[in-house]
Amino acid sequence: MSVVPHSSIRLIEDSCTSCMICARECPAWCIAIDSHTEPLPGSPPGPRQRTRNVLDSFVLDWSLCLYCGICIEECPFDALEWAGSNVAAADVLGGLRHGRDQLR
Ligand code: SF4
Ligand code: SF4
Repeated sequence: MSVVPHSSIRLIEDSCTSCMICARECPAWCIAIDSHTEPLPGSPPGPRQRTRNVLDSFVLDWSLCLYCGICIEECPFDALEWAGSNVAAADVLGGLRHGRDQLR
């Protein structure tokens, strides 16, 4: 079994359901997620209309991250994984807040 070093984390957006489990389980509170719900195609309107979550934003603040991997372990949809590369340095603290584009 190969060992993947704890490094940066990749978000696999197609697998993410915006369930928020990673954000809730993160001990450092460094994941912030925004999403909205949309009706499933073909689902009739009304109180029992079926919906799905759509991810609007996913931000990971590397300045707070402990690289513990709990978010990866807890994600029920395998939407997070170790990327195998180090987090790029930033010259301002805000530069360590990575959004979807950087986490892909
Ligand atoms: S736990 Fe996984 S599926 Fe849920 S919001 Fe986090 S990355 Fe997405
Ligand atoms: S590796 Fe740990 S500290 Fe970093 S985002 Fe995941 S759960 Fe939070």
